[in-house]
Amino acid sequence: MQLSIDLTGRDVLVAGSATAARQAVRRYEAAGAVVHRLETPHSATLTRLPEELFLVAAVADGQPGWVTFLDRCREAGIPVAAEPAAGSAGHVTLVGGGPGTSDLLTVAAVKALRDADVVFYDRLAPYQELPLLTSAKLVDVGKKPGHHKVSQADIEKLMVESALAGNNVVRLKGGDPYVFGRGGEEVAACVAAGVKVQVVSGVTSAISVPAAAGIPVTHREVSHLFTVVSGHAPLTEKEHEHLAGLGGTIVVLMGIGTLHQLAAGLRRAGMRPDMPMAVVERGYRPGQRTTIADLGTITSAAAGCSNPAVLVIGEVVRVAEANRQHVGAAADLDRLAASLLGS
Ligand code: SAH
Repeated sequence: MQLSIDLTGRDVLVAGSATAARQAVRRYEAAGAVVHRLETPHSATLTRLPEELFLVAAVADGQPGWVTFLDRCREAGIPVAAEPAAGSAGHVTLVGGGPGTSDLLTVAAVKALRDADVVFYDRLAPYQELPLLTSAKLVDVGKKPGHHKVSQADIEKLMVESALAGNNVVRLKGGDPYVFGRGGEEVAACVAAGVKVQVVSGVTSAISVPAAAGIPVTHREVSHLFTVVSGHAPLTEKEHEHLAGLGGTIVVLMGIGTLHQLAAGLRRAGMRPDMPMAVVERGYRPGQRTTIADLGTITSAAAGCSNPAVLVIGEVVRVAEANRQHVGAAADLDRLAASLLGS
């Protein structure tokens, strides 16, 4: 259980060196407290404490002299809260942000965001909720004023420079960093610059967005494999043949622009025109929409669909349909029961 106290307008003294205390200072300021600072135990002997001190936040900065000061505070009846020290050497954490809702962030992602000094985020990550999850500086690298994306090389440069300046940098990406997320390149850029880097896996849209539409990517006796493909560029004839030959579920990301080529290619490779297909747009976001058709009709059925969207091709699409009918049937039974009870 987490308890929270309203700190608005309360005097809070943060005790600890500038580097170690920087995150604690930001957190208390973000919570609305009036923050007072003591950087060394020596300064504590010289400074008069504010009259109405509500709390002392003691940062574990390794300076031995704090004990006496903190004992004095406790004796005076002022509560003392222990705060972890922020590291002095910056580092980068690539964080998978899931498909766009903070509900699908991992515990490790929430923790990394909380401890960050700066967050570079994309539009596919759950960016709207960021101010609630972190007091870090937020930098949108998905879109700049003028609507140009920051280039991949510039993102890597910004990240590395910020970490070298001593910041805990979070690079927040949509889904999982290693699924069409250029995570490998960003790790390589950090390694090349001698910056410590770690990766926090995320919930990929390849599985979670079909799930948002009730589609399981595997289902016993229906599909025992799924292939995740990028639709960024059209596939080759060989790739169409291999995909059609596998007989499992095909999940396509970034596939709206090449949907026509994909459907035609799979048809040429021998896939049945009545193979069910779904386009799931804006999973977990306002305006989520599912379009269901089959391989022969999808191009016209999905004419109005736009990115971000995940395409699913395979018999598993029917499982979702069957489950929906089941839910529908249950609702009908409920209504029947209610009307019988009512009469
Ligand atoms: N690393 C990401 C994928 C990045 S590629 C991941 O693991 O999910 C970007 C593509 O992901 C989009 O074009 C779209 O196909 C898919 N995508 C990501 N989030 C989505 C969402 N909320 N709804 C639908 N598609 C999404």
